[in-house]
Amino acid sequence: MGLWQTLFGSKNPSKQQARERALAWWQQNGKTSAKCDICANEVSANEGYLLHSAEVLQSDNYIDFCCQKMAEGVTRSAGSLGIDPTVFGAAKAAEITLILNSAVAGRDQVIAKIKSQTTPWLVCETCLSRRFPKIAATV
Ligand SMILES: [Zn+2]
Repeated sequence: MGLWQTLFGSKNPSKQQARERALAWWQQNGKTSAKCDICANEVSANEGYLLHSAEVLQSDNYIDFCCQKMAEGVTRSAGSLGIDPTVFGAAKAAEITLILNSAVAGRDQVIAKIKSQTTPWLVCETCLSRRFPKIAATV
């Protein structure tokens, strides 16, 4: 395929593949719950889907959502956004807060921020359906 796929690996995982990754992730870290990296709602152990930043970037839907949030131009703290730094680490919480808050950044900057995420994204069932419809449509 194109340069994008050469650089970032491959096409989107299937829903099942993203699920299996999440299961491995839960086993590895021994947590009993965590928060969705998109909406910050609680995800119970062994639930949710794990996506890499390159895969998150393939969702125009999610990028549009971030741009919309920025357009609102409201600066909010990580706490008020429901992002708990103790669950995902302060660095990631700060990055996500920046993405959602950055009133001046454009689409390119949203993409750059997402790209800079080196840890995988835990995504809840609702967010998978809403923001990653292509993945949700697979089995
Ligand atoms: Zn969610």
